[in-house]
Amino acid sequence: MRGIVGENLTGSVAVEYGCAFGTFLKKKYGDKKDRLSVCIGRDSRPSGQMFESALTEGLCAVGIDVIELGLVTTPGVGIMVRQLGCAGGVVITASHNPIQYNGIKLLLSDGIAPPAETAEQVRQYFLDKHFTFVDSPHCVTVTSSSRTDSAHIGRVLAIVDKDAIGAKKFKVVLDSVNGAGGPVTKKLLAELGCAVSAINDEPTGLFAHIPEPTVDNVTELCEVVKTEKADIGFAQDPDADRLAIVDENGRYIGEEYTLALAAKYIFSRKTGSAAANLSTSRMLDDIAKKAGGTVYRTAVGEANVAAAMVEHNCIIGGEGNGGVIDLRVGPIRDSLVGITLVLQLMAERGKTISRLAGEIGSYYMKKDKFTADKNQGRQILNSAKKLFANAKLDTTDGCRFDFDDGWLHLRASNTEPVMRIIAEARNQRTMQKYINAVLNIRKEILG
Ligand code: MG
Repeated sequence: MRGIVGENLTGSVAVEYGCAFGTFLKKKYGDKKDRLSVCIGRDSRPSGQMFESALTEGLCAVGIDVIELGLVTTPGVGIMVRQLGCAGGVVITASHNPIQYNGIKLLLSDGIAPPAETAEQVRQYFLDKHFTFVDSPHCVTVTSSSRTDSAHIGRVLAIVDKDAIGAKKFKVVLDSVNGAGGPVTKKLLAELGCAVSAINDEPTGLFAHIPEPTVDNVTELCEVVKTEKADIGFAQDPDADRLAIVDENGRYIGEEYTLALAAKYIFSRKTGSAAANLSTSRMLDDIAKKAGGTVYRTAVGEANVAAAMVEHNCIIGGEGNGGVIDLRVGPIRDSLVGITLVLQLMAERGKTISRLAGEIGSYYMKKDKFTADKNQGRQILNSAKKLFANAKLDTTDGCRFDFDDGWLHLRASNTEPVMRIIAEARNQRTMQKYINAVLNIRKEILG
C-alpha cells in the first residue's frame, strides 16, 4: 500500500491496515501458535514514526505482539522477521518515491513479500473491515529491538572474505539520499576496511535529490567519486534495497550492472541457478551460461523472484533495478549484499570496476510506456504475438519475445492503465527496431 501522506494515506488508514494484517495472520496460523508477533521497521521519512504508532495500535488491537525495530532498512526487517520468529513483518516505506509519499510493505514469516493472491486477501480484509478485536485479558505487548543493523551486518559479512576486501583499502563514496541506509552501510564499509566518504548519509528523510538511484539523480555522487579519486561510488534508494554503481571515472554504469556484477562474482566461485524477472538484462544469462548455470525468469515483482529462488535453490537472483538477492543473507533485495559482493569481485580480480563492467559486455536497453486499458493491452499483445511469431515466447507476465540479437518484454502495469515496453539488444538500432514495432502496433490499435 502506497499513498500520499495526509491525503489518501493517513494514520487511521494505517491503523485499519494493521488490524487487517493481524487478523489475516491469526487466520493463517489458527491455533498452531498461541501468540503471534510482528516486527515493524521504517525508513527515514518524517511520517514514519506516526505510521509506526498507527500500525502498532492496529496490530495490538487484534492481539498481535509488536516488536518495534525503529529506523532500519527494508532488508533489515526481512532478516529480523526470521531471526525473531515473527509471524510477519511490516516496513513503513515508499521506497524510491518522493517525500510526499509513504507506504506499508508487508512481509510473511519467511521474510518474503506476500504473493499476489495473499496480498489480495489482506487487502480484502482491509476493505471489508474484517477485524477480530481482542478483549482486555488478551491484550498484548509492545517491545523494541535495536539489533537489526548488527544482525544484518553479521549476515552480510558471513558470505564474503572480509580480510581480502580489507587488504585493498578501497576508497568508497556512498550516497544514501538521507534514507535509512546511511548508518548501517557506513558501519558495514568500515568493517570491510574501506575509507568511506559519505554524502546524504543523515537519515532525515529530507531527500537530497530525487530518491530513485537513476542516472539523472546521482550526479553529485559522480562528481564526488571523481574529486575524491575513489575506487567506486554506491547509490542507495531510501529503504536501501536498491543499489546503483558509479565507476572510478565518475561514470554511472547503470542499475542493470549491479545484479550482473554480483552474479559475476557468485558464478566465479560455483555454478548453479539464478533467478530474475523477465525485464532484467540478458547479461545475467551470459554470465550464468559461461559458468554452466541456468537462469529462471519470473513475473515482475520481488516476491516472484524470491519464490523462484527458494524453489530452485538459486545461488543469486534479483531484479535489473539494482536489487540483488542472496538467500544466505535473506530472500529480499539488499543493497548491502550488492555492495559487498561487488567489492569482493574487485578485491579478487584486482581490477577496476569499469574494467569488470566492461568484461561483461554491453547491451542497449530501453524502457518505454504508453497508456492502454486492459482490453487495448490484450489486443496489442495479440498483434505482437502474430508479428513476432518466430521469437521464443514466454507468457508468464505479458509477453517476452526472445530473439537471437535481443529481446522485448511487453506487459500491462499492475497498478495503472499503462503498458510497459522493455527492449534490449547488442546494438541500439536493433533495440529501437523492437520498440518501434510495438509503437506501430499501438498506433494501429489505438489510432
Ligand atoms: Mg526500495
